[in-house]
Amino acid sequence: MVRGPQDLELLGERLDWMRLRLLALEEQKTLFLQNISHELKTPLTSIREGADLLAEGVLGELNDRQRNVAKILLSNSIELQKRIEDLLNYSAIQTGKSSLTWQKLGLGRILDTVLHDHSLALMNKSIEIDLSCPDISFEGDEQKIRIVVDNLLSNAIKYSPKGGRISISARSEGGKVSIEVSDSGPGIDPGDASRIFDPFYQGRVRPEGHVKGTGLGLSIAREYVREHGGNLELLDHPGSGSQFRITLPSSRIVA
Ligand code: ADP
Repeated sequence: MVRGPQDLELLGERLDWMRLRLLALEEQKTLFLQNISHELKTPLTSIREGADLLAEGVLGELNDRQRNVAKILLSNSIELQKRIEDLLNYSAIQTGKSSLTWQKLGLGRILDTVLHDHSLALMNKSIEIDLSCPDISFEGDEQKIRIVVDNLLSNAIKYSPKGGRISISARSEGGKVSIEVSDSGPGIDPGDASRIFDPFYQGRVRPEGHVKGTGLGLSIAREYVREHGGNLELLDHPGSGSQFRITLPSSRIVA
């Protein structure tokens, strides 16, 4: 019970001690996250490269079953690597270490690179891509824009059925660039719509396969888009499938 000025002073001191303790714990948590992610990254890169060599037949011809196993190893190690990068990117955002390197970018080239990175997964699921992207250039941080598009495309692939269709369309209008990614998967459960951008939130719709998501992909993507002065939103998509829209200013906004 707080009775007089002395008690108030004591309470103030206790609260301050608690504030400092919480800050220290937060710092330890972030450091732990960073260290563990780095420790996991190196061995995982070797596994991925080894699986790649096997799957490509560089170390000798494999029979169909062996090639299949090598491909499963490869796609799961790529998936795991992405999870680790999610954790590292999230912790950089948390510690305010995330900053933008502005440069002039061509959207077509970014989309081609991201699609190329996913060619194996697209082929495995026989997914068709509808790409409608006129020659758009804008200013932004290449690596971060790539991560944003990559996260949306990874989800679209992950939640698409075999033989599904993903459409990516972009346009430039009124000083803004917008990119929409839609898929023919189950769509976002209405009960999840307001929370899917929250860090670590995993919705009711879960992908098939072995590697569980981190629930960080969309929150990182939205944060990166916002750092550019843009927005990432889920569009209402009656019927099946999900549709996301990225909107970015075409040129750097100097505050
Ligand atoms: P995760 O790494 O778990 O996929 P995200 O932040 O990328 O995390 O997504 C959060 C949740 O949003 C997912 O758990 C999933 O339920 C839902 N979600 C995201 N994209 C899609 C999509 N294209 N189709 C259906 N559900 C999706």
